[in-house]
Amino acid sequence: MWFLGLAASAGVVAIVEVDGDTTRLVRAVQVDSPGRAADWAPIPRNDPRIRSFLGADGGEAVRLERATFRVRLPDGAVPADLPRAVEAAQRLHNDAPPAERLDLLVLAEGYTEAERAAFEADADALLAGLLATSPFDRHGDLLNVWRAFGPSAESGASKDTRFEQVTRDTALSCTYGCGGADRIICCDDDAVLAAADASLPEADAIFVLVNDDEYGGAGSFTYSVSFTGPDWIPVAVHELGHVLGELYDEYDYGFDAGAYGVNCAPLPPFLPWDAWLDEPGMGAWPGCTYSNLFRPTDSGCRMRELDGPFCPVCREALVRALHAHLPPLLEAPATAAPGEAVTVGSYAGTTVEWSVDGEPFATGATATLPTCGAVTVTATVGSEWVRSDPDGVMSASQRWDLGPCPRACDTAPGPSWLAVLLLPLARRR
Ligand SMILES: [Zn+2]
Repeated sequence: MWFLGLAASAGVVAIVEVDGDTTRLVRAVQVDSPGRAADWAPIPRNDPRIRSFLGADGGEAVRLERATFRVRLPDGAVPADLPRAVEAAQRLHNDAPPAERLDLLVLAEGYTEAERAAFEADADALLAGLLATSPFDRHGDLLNVWRAFGPSAESGASKDTRFEQVTRDTALSCTYGCGGADRIICCDDDAVLAAADASLPEADAIFVLVNDDEYGGAGSFTYSVSFTGPDWIPVAVHELGHVLGELYDEYDYGFDAGAYGVNCAPLPPFLPWDAWLDEPGMGAWPGCTYSNLFRPTDSGCRMRELDGPFCPVCREALVRALHAHLPPLLEAPATAAPGEAVTVGSYAGTTVEWSVDGEPFATGATATLPTCGAVTVTATVGSEWVRSDPDGVMSASQRWDLGPCPRACDTAPGPSWLAVLLLPLARRR
């Protein structure tokens, strides 16, 4: 049953090993033919998909050596081995169709069957922590949250740290001490992705709750992980920033790299947050995941500290991520006739503006088109939290070409030699 979901997503899970500047494909599971590794494109060591992590003091840095993500293949994929049974996802928050929202799936790790209620309580606490944090406190209706329980044979997680060596039989094989850092928790990536495909194929973001009191976590753009011991919620919300907004850590790992993201960037001429620089406290401070990148605020962002909100730049990225999963913003006919009254559909609260050859002529859902020119209708979601929209997720347009308009000189009496002389001058202004 679960492999139907996997096949529907037409994905394969690739495990890569990163060593220095080289990247090697270790394993590609669920490929439709074993020799398809060529479908996999190598990634550089500094690719942002390689995991980041959060140290308790915010200062510890480590380079992780494994990264995982999906490679799309043209045909359906067939599983080689089945994961432990994971149940179909249950809705935890919101009732929108999965195709119309960002869908966050919470998975269980290290909870025995007898601890099912503890998982449910932890998932509730994660949701409450998320919805208490801006921008989710205001935009909670823009995402769905689900949980899916899969029992583990043993409680807790494995440890491969300086202080403890223990192996526990758990659903997703999560282990502390990944990459040589005690606080990083790595899971069996293909088990995590298979569990997501089995329980909610539409999941856009995955979060693994680890039933262990020991401080630890990890975040990536594919899935994030958190412990569930004392004061875990602030850590989990930070890790959610990675997987929901593709946010970088705003502290310094201690080495340089060539990659950058929405909240960590090289110095100008390119800063993704140029539009925010006139706000108090906004600027460019050195050290943002990589030593050669800069962060938008000196301090106070959740991607740097555990007691702050998301900074305006991170909040903006999260709002855009939520909108990117909504249904199309504008429903407009493919064709329209000159002089026709046209009505378009859009969300409540959006601004709809009409223009012809760049000149505005109407607002609102319905407009009577002019008899000629290039007409454009644009629907825009206003947000005080979004100042730049490079992927155009906050607006949508439809254009109709109604044909050229006769020029004034074509209908007026023949131009005098003076008018002929003046026209080019007038155009220069
Ligand atoms: Zn930030």
